[in-house]
Amino acid sequence: MAGIYFHIPFCKRICAYCDFARTADLRRMPEVVEAMHREMDARRGYLHDRRIRTLYFGGGTPSLLPPAEFDRFAEHAARLFDMSAAGECTVEANPDDLTAQYLRELSRTAVNRLSIGIQSFDDAALRFMNRRHTAAEAVDAVRRAQDAGFDNITVDLIFGIDGFGGEVLERNIGAVLALGVQHVSAYHLTVESGTAFGRRAARGELRTVDEQTSEREFLALHEALTAAGYEHYEVSNYALPGFRARHNSSYWSGDEYLGIGAGAHSFDGRSRRWAAPTVGEYLAGRGAGEETLSVADRRNEMIMTALRTADGLCQERFADAFGREAAERLAEAAQPWIRAGAMVSEGGKLRIPAEKFLVSDSVIESLFEVE
Ligand code: SF4
Repeated sequence: MAGIYFHIPFCKRICAYCDFARTADLRRMPEVVEAMHREMDARRGYLHDRRIRTLYFGGGTPSLLPPAEFDRFAEHAARLFDMSAAGECTVEANPDDLTAQYLRELSRTAVNRLSIGIQSFDDAALRFMNRRHTAAEAVDAVRRAQDAGFDNITVDLIFGIDGFGGEVLERNIGAVLALGVQHVSAYHLTVESGTAFGRRAARGELRTVDEQTSEREFLALHEALTAAGYEHYEVSNYALPGFRARHNSSYWSGDEYLGIGAGAHSFDGRSRRWAAPTVGEYLAGRGAGEETLSVADRRNEMIMTALRTADGLCQERFADAFGREAAERLAEAAQPWIRAGAMVSEGGKLRIPAEKFLVSDSVIESLFEVE
C-alpha cells in the first residue's frame, strides 16, 4: 500500500521558526497547481504498489486552496492509481482559513481529516512565532470544523519556547483537552538557520530552553495527554484509540509514497527522490534529485523510524530484511542502552520508553552502522 503527498508551498505569512519549503508570494498558486497535475501524469509509474491508501495535502498552507481543488487532485489520482483502499485524506489548515463557508464546502469533498496548525493557545506566544491567528480564532476554528462534521481532527502544538512554559503550557494542555480533538502532534521548538528565529539566535537575541525544561515540558504534555486517553504512538504524536495518522504511520513503517509539488519527497522502496524546494525551480523543471539507498541506509532508516514509534523495532522483521547477523549486532549494540534504562527489550521488540524519547536521537544514532 502506498500514499500520495501533495505539497502546497504557499503561506500568507512566514512563521518565525519555519524552514519548510514555502513562499509568501501567492501569485503563482494556480500555475503550481496545474504543474502538480502534470507531475502526477508524468510520475504515474513511480509507485510499484499502485494501491493508494492515503492522500495528504501538506505545506505551506493547503487551506489557501479552494475546497474543490482537493477533489480535483483526488479524482485525478483515482484515474492514475487504484484508490479502492483509500481511507484517509488529510488537509493541513491554518485556523483563520477555516470559515463556516469553507468548512461546509470542504466537508462535501473527499477530505475526511483536518490537521489544524495551532501551535499555541496563548496570544503572546502566537505573536512571538509570527502566527497569523489568535488563540480565540484557533478555538473557534476547531469548533466550527466539528460543527461541520469533521470527526478526525489533529492539532499541532509547539513546546520548549523560552518564556512560554509554565502557565502557558498548562493553558495549552487544558485548551487542547477541552476541544476533544482525536489527535495531537506536539513538537519541541527547533531553531533552524535561515529562519527568523535562526537569525535572532545568531545575533544572540533568542534564548533556547535548557534540557531540564525541555524534559519537564515534554513530560507535562505526555502525562496529561496519556491520562486523557491519548496513545503516545510516535515521538511527537498522540491519538485517541483508532485515530493514529495513517499517512504518517506509513512513513514510519517504510511504505512507498509519491510526493507531488515543490519540495516534496518520494520513496519507492529503493530510492529517495526530492523536488526542487523553490517554486521557481519547480516550475522550470530544475533542481530535483534522487539517491539510491544502500543496504546500510535502509537498515539505519528502519532503526530510526521504528525506534521513534512506541511499538518499537520488531527484531524478527529486522532479521528478515537484513539478515540474522545484522540483527545480532543490533541486539548487542542495544545492550548498554537497555542497562542504562534508555531502551527496553520485550516481546521480540526493542523500544525506547516514552520518558526517554527526548534523548532518542542520540540512542538511535549510536545504533547506526556504516558500510
Ligand atoms: S504556516 Fe506552516 S508552512 Fe507556512 S510559514 Fe507557518 S509553519 Fe511554515
